[in-house]
Amino acid sequence: MAAVTTTPTIGVLAVQGDVREHLAALRHGGATATTVRRPAELAAVDGLVIPGGESTTMDKLVRIFELQQPLRDHIAAGLPVYGSCAGMIMLADRLLDGAPGQQTLGGMDITVRRNAFGRQVDSFEDDLHVRELGGEPVRAVFIRAPWVEDAGDAVEPLARVEHGPAAGRIVAARQRNLLITSFHPEVTGDHRVHQLFVDIVRQSLRERS
Ligand code: GLN
Repeated sequence: MAAVTTTPTIGVLAVQGDVREHLAALRHGGATATTVRRPAELAAVDGLVIPGGESTTMDKLVRIFELQQPLRDHIAAGLPVYGSCAGMIMLADRLLDGAPGQQTLGGMDITVRRNAFGRQVDSFEDDLHVRELGGEPVRAVFIRAPWVEDAGDAVEPLARVEHGPAAGRIVAARQRNLLITSFHPEVTGDHRVHQLFVDIVRQSLRERS
């Protein structure tokens, strides 16, 4: 673990998905960013991003790479994790519309519905007001996105869909060290969500020392 005064080291789970964009956004947010594919690499990071991609493939690969149990153990031990889109699915304790046999890592007391906006809605964008980010709304890019169908008391909703038939659905939330978004802030050039996550990692390092 890095000392409190140093730059936090944040890994991006690199078995599948848009890894490079997250590495760049984390570096912009003031972290040292590195890929994680093996348990030893996971053990060396202060925080982890699980990127967007395809959660069914990611699930299979974390099992093949023998990362599933180490990931569950680190999450249970309080490792800060930010899951975007497929990563959000991976962090959900309960999953609706998963593929047969699909498993999640869990950790967050949420029920997530996969491909929730409908098969015909491949991608769309919306301006969202995200609690904890303040000021300007975030341009949220949704790509075959999930939403939070249900959340436990420990979960703080940070953003909801503001327009259209899905208005009111939770699409960003936090439970202590765990952060999720249905959307992809790594593709917009707005690094505030990554900055928030870097702050969460810094806070957790302070609490550990
Ligand atoms: N629909 C994808 C899944 O089920 C998630 C899409 C994404 O991450 N952009 O994993």
